[in-house]
Amino acid sequence: MIILLLGAPGAGKGTQAELLARSLKLKHLATGDMLRAEVKAGTELGKLAESYMSRGDLVPDDVVIRMIESKLKAADARNGALLDGFPRTTAQAEALDTGLARSGLRVDRAIYLAVSEEELVRRMLGRGRADDTPEAIRRRLVVYRAQTEPVIDYYKGKGRFTEVPGEGAVEDIQKRLARAAS
Ligand code: AMP
Repeated sequence: MIILLLGAPGAGKGTQAELLARSLKLKHLATGDMLRAEVKAGTELGKLAESYMSRGDLVPDDVVIRMIESKLKAADARNGALLDGFPRTTAQAEALDTGLARSGLRVDRAIYLAVSEEELVRRMLGRGRADDTPEAIRRRLVVYRAQTEPVIDYYKGKGRFTEVPGEGAVEDIQKRLARAAS
């Protein structure tokens, strides 16, 4: 089973995806976490990614697509995966569909975690991540609207799409997500 958790930066995808992956026994694949690990390890990929991440821009599609494809091929992800933070562009969504189809797989459900812009900014300012400067937050929201929102329409058009309200208590949101995933 392949589930996608879509949503704006600061929507709480990371927290919720981790809980949901654990209860559904899916491999949690978060491209933001993978990229931060590359930055920390000082790899070539990390050095390239860091300049984009610190500005609030997206890392180029080819880099991210290659990275997630290698993780999806790993044995533990083949039993099911929950993708968090990917796809963020329609090119990524198309590459994912093509890659999965080659293995006879597909996206079983795309869940969109909906949070108001005011709440997104509040949450990002509260988490204190290196790339959560006011300028980078502003830029991430602009990039999100331009490049990532079309991904929502992409999956809406294909069915198997559910929107879940992402405000309120963590455990209430988790219950809604579990229902949406079933
Ligand atoms: P996140 O932890 O999901 O908020 O991601 C942190 C940063 O990593 C983003 O602001 C982007 O710069 C980069 N990133 C994560 N996932 C992707 C992706 N699918 N495509 C491009 N850039 C990404």
